[in-house]
Amino acid sequence: MSDLPRHDADPDNTLTWVKYRARLCRHCDAVCCTLPVEVKVCDLIGMGLVNDFSRDEEPRLLARQLAKRGLIEHFHARSATFTLSRRADGSCIFLDQVERRCTIYAGRPATCRNHPTIGPRPGYCPFRHRRQR
Ligand code: SF4
Repeated sequence: MSDLPRHDADPDNTLTWVKYRARLCRHCDAVCCTLPVEVKVCDLIGMGLVNDFSRDEEPRLLARQLAKRGLIEHFHARSATFTLSRRADGSCIFLDQVERRCTIYAGRPATCRNHPTIGPRPGYCPFRHRRQR
């Protein structure tokens, strides 16, 4: 008998999230890749979106360029944190829409690497059964 959760979680309500275990990912619709992803310049370099020289660039100017390229949807100046853009359906622009897999997995940012160890509800994730597309 399957030990998968019976119900889909509501990503906006962490009380509905399920205790994370690696096996869930294979059956999930990658809902974690619809949550806002905050990144730093070092992440952007690792993702191949900017080069090493960007470390010395004024973050506000960098944010403007990234927004123009459609890569970020928000910039928080005080913490120099960029929020990655999402598609109309809420999913990250780096998520393959059919396979529901990260297209930059090897270079994914720290926020994604550390999910769900850290995040809105550490140790829990917004599991949703995989949909046919
Ligand atoms: S960068 Fe990759 S792992 Fe992170 S949210 Fe986007 S698709 Fe998911």
